[in-house]
Amino acid sequence: MTAERTFVVIGGGLAGAKTAEALRERGFEGRIVLFAGEPHLPYERPPLSKDYLKTGEKLEDVFVHDEDWYAAHDVELRTGTRVSGIDRDAHEVVTDTGERTAYDRVVLATGSTPRRLTIPGADLDGVFSLRTIEDSQAIRAVLVPGRRIVFIGGGWIGLEVAAAAREAGAEVTVLEALDLPLVRVLGPTVAQVFADLHRAHGVELRTGVTVEAVEGDSAVTGVRLADGVVVPADAVVVGIGAAPAVELAEAAGLDVDNGITADATGRTSDPDVFAVGDVANVEHPFLQQRIRVEHWANALNQPSLVAAAMLDQEGPEPELPYFYTDQYDLGMEYHGLGSPDDEVVVRGDLAAREFVAFWLRDGRVTAGMNVNVWDVGDALKSLIRSRSVVPPDQLADPDVALEDLP
Ligand code: NAP
Repeated sequence: MTAERTFVVIGGGLAGAKTAEALRERGFEGRIVLFAGEPHLPYERPPLSKDYLKTGEKLEDVFVHDEDWYAAHDVELRTGTRVSGIDRDAHEVVTDTGERTAYDRVVLATGSTPRRLTIPGADLDGVFSLRTIEDSQAIRAVLVPGRRIVFIGGGWIGLEVAAAAREAGAEVTVLEALDLPLVRVLGPTVAQVFADLHRAHGVELRTGVTVEAVEGDSAVTGVRLADGVVVPADAVVVGIGAAPAVELAEAAGLDVDNGITADATGRTSDPDVFAVGDVANVEHPFLQQRIRVEHWANALNQPSLVAAAMLDQEGPEPELPYFYTDQYDLGMEYHGLGSPDDEVVVRGDLAAREFVAFWLRDGRVTAGMNVNVWDVGDALKSLIRSRSVVPPDQLADPDVALEDLP
């Protein structure tokens, strides 16, 4: 009876599009309706702070699929259409124009939204955040030689866009609340590498600062810090984190706690409602905790197992978290889930920015990161999954092949 069922996907990001794709790959022949609030085909976000931001070229490369794909796979793509409610009793989703679509199962792929600055001046002209294609285009327009760009937040967005800004010849200041950028994710040893990288490329990195106001009449002229110093600015890019877009889920009475809470397959507190991607706070059997991951790879990989569950099929094991970044000439990949309190062991040369770092808890590897070293991902994943106690001196020794470690 599969052919008669309707599955609704809410959200036109990578996770939503990949869920529709996985449903078809897994043999679902019923109706698929994909609601995308933005006017675009579903798109991927990494290029928005990397290549597309820098060049403005090949917008078509950011789309998950071209338009023909949706028709060829019989996916009803409703771009520019926002879902405003889920009527769980009636098994219907409601759009903001009042249109109702009946579903048998629905998946929320609503993603996350940038945290907004709440200080005075935060809405002046020239203050940007980065989430959408339009945001990326607007920021690119200010990445010009000599322009003074101040970044509030030294997270992934701040640092990737700061690198693009320096490469474009802009003058860059990064304001970070903590003592080092990324220190909450990477811990001090590896976070220092990113601080050094940006300073070496001419970024003025100010850490441990509190931002009090954005100054200007109608357009931004500076950012005032708590100590009274005003950092002059022609433009400000705010990257202070993101929050899961849980409004629909909350209004529908689903369990929500740092995202939509779900089991390992994305099934929420309602068995016909699923969550996938940034918004989903899912159990992770290997990590033995709930995790909510806002990185690209999660939106790429999780849909396969969520689609399986929607079809009552056995799905793949959840992947370990993975993310990557490119900044200047530094390329990095990270596997696993380390804590900033874990012991860090380094193989290679931190100063030369060519190394593999391992995070260890109770002697076991929780995460691994390769910086300008390639093709070690499988070995890192095996080390993490083995849960073996690995002697730190062997981890640090480049003469011991990663594959030969216990
Ligand atoms: P993020 O990576 O969480 O970093 C935000 C940073 O801003 C944190 O260091 C945060 O410090 C700091 N901060 C918060 N409030 C601040 C304030 N008032 N003044 C100064 N600093 C402040 O978030 P993001 O860079 O905005 O990125 C948004 C999401 O996109 C994240 O989930 C990120 O992982 C994802 N993303 C990933 C990639 C990638 O994987 N390569 C690239 C771009 C974006 P606290 O920790 O103290 O709050």
